[in-house]
Amino acid sequence: MPDGALPDIASLDADGLSRALGDLGQPAFRQRQLIAWLYARAVDGFESMSDLPSALRSALAERYSLVLPEPAEVRHSSDGTRKYLWKLADGVLVESVGIPVGDRLTVCFSTQAGCAMGCTFCATGKGGFVRNLTPGEMVWQVVLVAREFGTRASNAVAMGQGEPFNNYDATLGALRLMNSKSGPEIGARHLTVSTCGVIPGIQRLSTEPEQFTLAVSLHSAVQATRDRIMPGVRRWPLDELQQALVDYTQRTGRRPTLEFALIAGVNDTPGEVAALVDFARGWMSHVNVIPMNPVVGAPGQRPGDASVAAVAEALSAAGIETSVRTERGADIEAACGQLTQRHRPSAG
Ligand code: SF4
Repeated sequence: MPDGALPDIASLDADGLSRALGDLGQPAFRQRQLIAWLYARAVDGFESMSDLPSALRSALAERYSLVLPEPAEVRHSSDGTRKYLWKLADGVLVESVGIPVGDRLTVCFSTQAGCAMGCTFCATGKGGFVRNLTPGEMVWQVVLVAREFGTRASNAVAMGQGEPFNNYDATLGALRLMNSKSGPEIGARHLTVSTCGVIPGIQRLSTEPEQFTLAVSLHSAVQATRDRIMPGVRRWPLDELQQALVDYTQRTGRRPTLEFALIAGVNDTPGEVAALVDFARGWMSHVNVIPMNPVVGAPGQRPGDASVAAVAEALSAAGIETSVRTERGADIEAACGQLTQRHRPSAG
């Protein structure tokens, strides 16, 4: 925070907002009002919060800044998907994607600006880590995308830029605000955290009281391949990851999704598919096969339809719950980080 700058109200989670109001001598119900103004209505200033006493509005404005993300670019796909590039209060750029399906809207939001994990197939990984996002910056992505669609978000997925478990507290704070009756009120099971396999985060999520959904970007069940394409999770080997996921299912009774982005010639070979079947078989997993969007400047190509079907068939034949996700937004560079990279002159 620069000298003289006010703390950002978006950096506070629900408990932080309660404490801030308590410090101002306010009763408990003011927290619900403030959450509604910030994250259901997403107003751009404290003075707009008309059911708060004017002295409280002034006190908040003296103590905190409130700056909504500004859209720097919106791209519309022919399939209805929209991709957003947001400029945050300090000028940092992050991305979200809105994916309408029938009368539902899923918003994929970022938890960090940039990412330290270095996955080779990902444009964000190429650009490196910039900073963690605050809870409010995550919630606003979801609320503002839904507003632009003229609807409410039915689902939100922490699957944009960043590794959510490298920013655990803020991500959980954001999910709780999204789940709040005073905020966007998205059901806990419709809120998904997608990790590339940070085991301590998986273990911690299994102890949380809410029924948030877990997804793991697996992308290869062969250790050497995974080490190569996802170097940031080398320290959490596949056998330990599988055990952590089995423990998670036993503790929560919930089924995690294993995301498997198929990259032609990298993870669609018979050996790779056999390893995937071995990894996912015998416990409560769900494998989501995703033919990969090509990323400009990164290795890897989209596999053919026959290859995608063969992988899905091998999984189903082994009794593993499987889906193939329809590729969305390929014409607007909807894979994570692609839009930001084009806006960052130093990115290669
Ligand atoms: S895929 Fe996710 S975890 Fe990997 S570098 Fe990209 S943003 Fe980070």
